Amino acid sequence: MSASLIETLRALVGHDQVLQGEGLEAYEVDWRKRYRGRALAVVRPGHADEVAAVVRACLAAGVTVVPQGGNTGLVGGGVPDASGTQILLSLTRLNRIREIDADNLTLTAEAGCILQTLQEAAAARELLFPLSLAAEGSCTIGGNLATNAGGTQVLRYGNARELCLGLEAVTAAGDVWHGLSGLRKNNTGYDLRDLLIGSEGTLGIITAATLKLYPAPASIVTALAACPSVEAAVGLLNLARTRLGAGLTGFELMGRFALSLVERHFPQLPRPLAPAPWTVLLELAGTDSENQERDRLGSTLEAALEQGLVNDAAVAESIAQSRALWHLRESIPLAQSEEGLNIKHDIALPISAIPGFVDRMAAELERAAPGGRVVCFGHLGDGNLHYNLQGPEGESASAFLAQHEAAINALVYDEVQRLAGSISAEHGIGELKREELAQRGSPVGLGMMRAIKHALDPGGLMNPGRVI
Ligand code: FAD
Repeated sequence: MSASLIETLRALVGHDQVLQGEGLEAYEVDWRKRYRGRALAVVRPGHADEVAAVVRACLAAGVTVVPQGGNTGLVGGGVPDASGTQILLSLTRLNRIREIDADNLTLTAEAGCILQTLQEAAAARELLFPLSLAAEGSCTIGGNLATNAGGTQVLRYGNARELCLGLEAVTAAGDVWHGLSGLRKNNTGYDLRDLLIGSEGTLGIITAATLKLYPAPASIVTALAACPSVEAAVGLLNLARTRLGAGLTGFELMGRFALSLVERHFPQLPRPLAPAPWTVLLELAGTDSENQERDRLGSTLEAALEQGLVNDAAVAESIAQSRALWHLRESIPLAQSEEGLNIKHDIALPISAIPGFVDRMAAELERAAPGGRVVCFGHLGDGNLHYNLQGPEGESASAFLAQHEAAINALVYDEVQRLAGSISAEHGIGELKREELAQRGSPVGLGMMRAIKHALDPGGLMNPGRVI
């Protein structure tokens, strides 16, 4: 059966676009190198119609399909399992920008387009596609939508979901749903677009999307601020919101240990401020000149200094300096992975609950796993923390994980649940958090999710074992 399926797939997408055998780690191992699978074959269609034909062939053969974009996902949802029986469907050849409609402020692109390519295409028309994350040079817009990615501009522009107006997708039956639309208003029944966004490849395969663009801001200025506590950082957020309004586009929190990992693994990066318990990166985008916006940001930070919310601050004097500050922030996940495997939590909390959470957790984790090192950073303006635990210095990371992961997860997620937070703010559920969701999700909500999955994918073809 598998030999005849492979022949069928080669006939559908071309002999060279069906890969088998050794050397497929880039598709079979996830970014964190935590999940290592084995595919029956990697199939690389070039058009939505080819995606649909591949899905129909897999359905007929009873073979399951794992969609994949840039393979930068952090929850193990985009790589095959170890059975060697699944088709890994790579979307990277669907990489055309179909249209930019400057009057309608929309861009229509295929699922395999790299996020950075879309940002650059918009910028070339003096427009902005605001979705931005550290993996933007390799993640795809299809993967961004399938995970409802967040990133660094959510505070002003929202998640991937808020940036998407329409989708084209292949259903689990192998039909193409033509749902591309540049309309801001369209109340015609159930929102199928919203169902597919965030479904992590379990309900269908996104092949193209119509995305919202914005006028490019006239100027963007960035600053770093050293805060004595998370409570002070929240105070700074409130002050910045009041004084800068919708111009505040980024507000990122970085713990001392998170930044020390960057210093250790990327010593060449400049550190404009002395190490502080907490460092905040603020970004202001506006319609005034760069000097005027810099003055607004500077005077906000001066007010924060007077109120004791900030001990020190540095405002970037040029675009190059701004980029360097962002580079510091975006290097944290990379520095962390250089340091070794760690226990990851991508959590959302009401912003008001974050200072108490951070204080209580630090003490509880030290009791539960003495010597564990907390790597805390994230999108404070969105109430989203990456709250990770690295094993003690010099100890085997995998032994630390094996010994402590289950208990640490229980501690962190119990507290998150008590505070009405979420166990997955922006990375999704994938395989990593499937059991956690099954145990902690609302039974009624999970029942509705299973009913939707069964209705849209009755044969369980699409990315089985992920999400639910
Ligand atoms: P993949 O990893 O290939 O796939 C992710 C999931 O989507 C899988 O379940 C897969 O089956 C499914 N999928 C992929 N393409 C499709 C498609 N066309 N149709 C249907 N399903 C599909 N995420 C954030 O939200 N915010 C961040 O700030 C952030 N920072 C990151 C920083 C680094 C350094 C790294 C490595 C990752 C970061 N991520 C972040 C996680 C990751 O980049 C995002 O989840 C991204 O959206 C995944 O896109 P991808 O193309 O790599 O998808």
